[in-house]
Amino acid sequence: MGNLLIKGGTVIDPARNFVGKSDVLIQENQFVEITPDVPVEVEEVINAAGYLVTPGLIDNHTHIFYGATESGFVPDVALLPMGVTTAVDAGSSGTSNCHTFMRTVVNQSQMRIFCTLNVSPAGQVTERYPENLDPRNYDLGMLKELFAQYNSQVTGLKIRCGEEVVKEFGLDTLKAAVNLAEALECRLTVHTTNPPGNITEIASQMRPGDIFCHCYHGKGSTIIDAEGKVKRGIWEARRRGVLFDTADARVNHSYPVIQAALAEKFAPDIISTDLTQASLFGNMVFGLPAVMSRYLSLGVELPAVIKACTSTPAEINGMKGRLGTLAPGAIADVAIFQLTDKEFLFKNRLGETFSGNKLLVPKLTILNGKIVFRQIDFPF
Ligand SMILES: [Zn+2]
Repeated sequence: MGNLLIKGGTVIDPARNFVGKSDVLIQENQFVEITPDVPVEVEEVINAAGYLVTPGLIDNHTHIFYGATESGFVPDVALLPMGVTTAVDAGSSGTSNCHTFMRTVVNQSQMRIFCTLNVSPAGQVTERYPENLDPRNYDLGMLKELFAQYNSQVTGLKIRCGEEVVKEFGLDTLKAAVNLAEALECRLTVHTTNPPGNITEIASQMRPGDIFCHCYHGKGSTIIDAEGKVKRGIWEARRRGVLFDTADARVNHSYPVIQAALAEKFAPDIISTDLTQASLFGNMVFGLPAVMSRYLSLGVELPAVIKACTSTPAEINGMKGRLGTLAPGAIADVAIFQLTDKEFLFKNRLGETFSGNKLLVPKLTILNGKIVFRQIDFPF
C-alpha cells in the first residue's frame, strides 16, 4: 500500500548506478522498496512512460535572499517548476544578516534550503559594488555561533576571489578564509572568475572537499593553459579532492573553456546555475534544466549530468542517502522530465553563442511525497 506510484518511466538514480525502466513507489514522504511484477495498491498512479524520472534536483549555487539582496528571488515559485527541490544559497548572506535569511527565506519556503555564509559580514547585498573582503572584518566568533545554531542549514563558507572583489587584500583574503573554514571544520566555496594572478594559486590553497566554483569561466586566468590544455595545478587540485562546480551564471562560463576541458574529460563534479533574479527565465541561464541541457548538448552523458545535480550535491550538504537518490528510505523528492531533441541557441554575457540540440523539459515535481508542480500537458 502506498500513496503514489510512478509507473513505467526511465529511472536515473546515479547514487545506485541505476538507469532503466522501473516503477517508483512513495509512502508518506519516503521511497519504499517494490518487487517487480507484484501489484501494489496505491492512491494515485503517475504514468511516466516516455519520461525520465530522477531524484529531485539540487541546485548547489543560487542567490535566493529575496527582499534583502538585489539578486534574490522567491525560491519556491521559481525552482519547484524546474524540478529543483533543494537549493543552496551561495554567500548571499553573512554574519550580520544570516538570522534574517533563516527567518524570511528558509523558514518561509516549502523547498529545502541550505546556505554557505559569505566571509564578508554583509554578504552579497548588491551587484553595484562588491562586498568588503578586508580579513579584519571576518568574525570567527559570530560564525561559530551561527554554525552551531543552524548546523543543518549552514553547510560552509563562501568567498569571491575575483580581482575586483579582493582589491588590495589580494590572496590574503583567501588565506584568512581558509583559516576560518579550518576553525569551523567546514567546506569553503571559492568564486574563481577573474582571479588576482594565476588561477592555479587559488587552486593550490584549496583543501579536499572545498568547492571551486565557476570552474569554466573565461575571464582573466582560466583553468586552460596557452596550449589549450587543463593546467597541471587544476588536475592536481582535483586529485587532492577539490570539487569543481560550474555555477554558470550569465558571465561565469565560456564555451571554448568548457570544450577544451571536456576534450580532456575534465567534467564537472557539480552542475549549478548561480541563478539570480536578473537571470531567472532568461536565455543565458534560465534555470537548472537549461544549464543541464547545455552540458548534455556539449557531450556530458545523461547519468553524469543527473549525478552532478543530485547525489553529489546531496553528499556535499550532508544528506548522502537521504536526498539526491530514489533509494528506499530516502526523502521522496522526484523530478520528471521529457528529454527532447530540440535546437536551442544558448547565449552568454561574453557574447558567445552555442547551438544546443538537447533540451530537458521539466514536467512534474514531487517534494516530500507530494506533487508540487505539474506541467499542464503532463498526463493525468
Ligand atoms: Zn554566485
